[in-house]
Amino acid sequence: MSANKKLLFLPGDGIGPEVMGQVRRVIDWMDNRRHVSFDVAEDLVGGAAIDATGTSLDDATLDKAMNVDAVLLGAVGGPKWDNVARDIRPEAGLLKLRKEMDLFANLRPATVLPALAEASSLKEELVSGLDILILRELTSGVYFGEPRGITENADGSAEALDSQRYTSAEIERIVRVGFEMAGKRGKRLHSVEKANVMETGVLWRRIATEVGKDYPDIELQHMYADNCAMQLVRAPKQFDVIVTDNLFGDVLSDCAAMLTGSLGMLPSASLGGADESGRRKALYEPVHGSAPDIAGEDKANPLATLQSFAMMLRYSFDDIENAELIEQAVKNVLDQGLRTGDIMQDGKTLVSCTRMGEAVCAELDKLAA
Ligand code: NAD
Repeated sequence: MSANKKLLFLPGDGIGPEVMGQVRRVIDWMDNRRHVSFDVAEDLVGGAAIDATGTSLDDATLDKAMNVDAVLLGAVGGPKWDNVARDIRPEAGLLKLRKEMDLFANLRPATVLPALAEASSLKEELVSGLDILILRELTSGVYFGEPRGITENADGSAEALDSQRYTSAEIERIVRVGFEMAGKRGKRLHSVEKANVMETGVLWRRIATEVGKDYPDIELQHMYADNCAMQLVRAPKQFDVIVTDNLFGDVLSDCAAMLTGSLGMLPSASLGGADESGRRKALYEPVHGSAPDIAGEDKANPLATLQSFAMMLRYSFDDIENAELIEQAVKNVLDQGLRTGDIMQDGKTLVSCTRMGEAVCAELDKLAA
């Protein structure tokens, strides 16, 4: 395979650099053993960037992010920067990155590997083997809609307004991604809204139905968001891909995340629109934050970040074979009983972040032999 896959690594703060170090290890392994090479640049984001440049994402870094094939981010934030001005706080850098790259599709898989099924708050049989993908619209809807604001009335009362607004084009592009993802997975798509009480829901349902005509091999089902929340905790394995708006996606993806039992296992991807060559801007990151309580102690679980890298192989480079290799290696180390502190269980072996990364590479060696 060619060596022109350009990546930007933004390790960020706290455990970010530690978990990204394990991706570097897998990248070296891929270079040596699979002859898949990446051209990796690294830069600062979040608190680390504030310390060095006075802003959480400077223009030069943003420019690099706009011109690579994919960005991999660790995490941003920490108590050191809790009191900096709002517009330069660590999270502002991440939000700017998502906005400038126009990353409208947020992919959050919720998978429960059998080895970790007992960590879920649900019964083991309900979640063991769970593999769902929640696709959330990320750049529109009620978090961005105008008008918005709080009005202070003359009589001393106040009134708050948020606007849920979607155009047909915004709905169409996210729903299309949903059909495409379902096509690469179990061929089932749930489109989730509240068409019973919201106008945006009525339009969402109409557009999803229309777009569905272009994907006759995908089974489309419409579901109200409140029912979806119930079904996620009642029988989550009925779902393959769920596509929904910004607000419902925020809530439902966190709900689905908890089915898996651990933050340290959850990857994510955010994708932009496709250019003429079909290439999408893309940012991959673990769902967890910078975990300041364990930062610098080599205790972090690197598996969410490694799985985010596997998502990059799958969605940015269409390299399903190597993505599956990494996912299988992760399963195997867990089956061997290796655990970082966040997923530790009785009778298992506690390992460091570094040791977990080494173990994944050792498994890759065996799988590729
Ligand atoms: P967090 O995800 O950083 O940590 C929550 C708990 O989970 C902590 O006990 C932590 O030790 C543990 N944890 C998280 N990831 C882990 C991993 N990979 N391995 C082992 N344990 C892990 O959330 P928080 O404590 O609410 O936030 C800490 C900082 O991170 C804050 O500054 C917050 O703003 C920021 N944050 C950033 C992102 C991001 O960069 N996308 C997301 C969430 C929070």
